[in-house]
Amino acid sequence: MRLELTADQEAFREAVRRFADQDVRPRAAQIDADDRFPRDLVREAAARGLMGITIPVEAGGAGRDYVSYALAIEAIAAASATLAVILAVNNSLVAEVIARFGTAAQRTTWLRRLATGQAVGAFALSEADAGTDAANQHTTATPDGAGYRLSGRKVWVANGEVADLLLVFAATEPGIGGRGVSAFLVPTDTAGLRAEKTADSLGVRGLGCRDIDLDDVWVGAEAMLGAAGKGFQIAMWALDGGRVAIAAQALGIGQAAFEEALAHTKRRQTFGRPIGRYQAVQWMLADMATELEAARMLMYRGACAKDTQDRSTVEAAMAKLYASEAAHRAADKAMQILASAGYHRGSTVERLVRDVRATEIYQGTSEVQRMVIAAAILAER
Ligand SMILES: Cc1cc2nc3c(=O)[nH]c(=O)nc-3n(C[C@H](O)[C@H](O)[C@H](O)COP(=O)(O)OP(=O)(O)OC[C@H]3O[C@@H](n4cnc5c(N)ncnc54)[C@H](O)[C@@H]3O)c2cc1C
Repeated sequence: MRLELTADQEAFREAVRRFADQDVRPRAAQIDADDRFPRDLVREAAARGLMGITIPVEAGGAGRDYVSYALAIEAIAAASATLAVILAVNNSLVAEVIARFGTAAQRTTWLRRLATGQAVGAFALSEADAGTDAANQHTTATPDGAGYRLSGRKVWVANGEVADLLLVFAATEPGIGGRGVSAFLVPTDTAGLRAEKTADSLGVRGLGCRDIDLDDVWVGAEAMLGAAGKGFQIAMWALDGGRVAIAAQALGIGQAAFEEALAHTKRRQTFGRPIGRYQAVQWMLADMATELEAARMLMYRGACAKDTQDRSTVEAAMAKLYASEAAHRAADKAMQILASAGYHRGSTVERLVRDVRATEIYQGTSEVQRMVIAAAILAER
């Protein structure tokens, strides 16, 4: 067993870290404060191949493995959690799904544009009554002529503000749960689509979340991705990758919190000594470092599984569950170590505490990850 990155993976991580340090980190506080989608940074990320990291080179992507992708998301998240999830949605939840399930025509129309950042993709699964219960789709797709009419309302669609393409899930056979759900590629300039700003977000601000009304939106039959009734399986396949990316995002946030805390323990003195000399503080640092390293191992495992298996559901669920909760604990401890220096609006740790919380909610809550893991354990034994 070898736990080493290849020279190529290391070099790629270094290149992404340089971009994150030089171009992304200086912008993170402003993106958060303004809650504004960072279009220019997304373009710069795309120019570095970060909008289609695992998409084959011949389709416009960077042609890299999932471990490299996870390393990139972690590095970006350590600078801006918002940019990390923008990239994760485009990569895992849209581009990779089209690469895997798209027809030749769908791949030709969308893949290069998504992978090069000429187009931005968004994933429209959640509804007011279909969050955790995602199979309970109230959005319907009714056959009409040579296509379908889509009607319903999607909520919390990240990238929705700027997206050119929505991957929309809708019931082609309502009332039978996941087996009746199909997936559709819907350009955002299609008649009948209306986007509205989602509620003011606590963290990952600037993600461009939109609630999207589909009011009798007609799409041709060629807009269906995969076969009729396979949409829910496609969504779950997408989340196998997406959850590894969210594990990486959480890890980046947690690592940034750790670095903030570590620097403070050297800088801040009480009773004439740096606070890092006190055992109570040392133990917090030790727990943070250990838990983040454990999370990193699970993230690598999830990414490797994604590279080598068609489904990697349990590995991805374990990585996301543990990394998001470990990063939450790390951000919380960082706040404790910084104390009043962290507990004010505009401090980096304050932003990290808000950002990290989303990683336990989107792409399946921690409870959902536990349900997935438990179901697999019970099925095995
Ligand atoms: C910042 C942000 C970005 C998002 N981006 C997207 C996006 O791009 N696309 C998209 O489609 N969605 C997106 N979402 C939606 C997200 O996926 C859902 O919020 C999430 O799946 C949880 O659904 P819910 O909020 O409806 O919670 P609910 O389903 O109402 O759950 C409420 C609580 O009950 C628990 N619970 C529910 N059922 C069970 C059960 N059976 N057993 C145990 N516990 C249970 C949940 O874990 C949770 O704690 C985003 C959300 C946020 C906050």
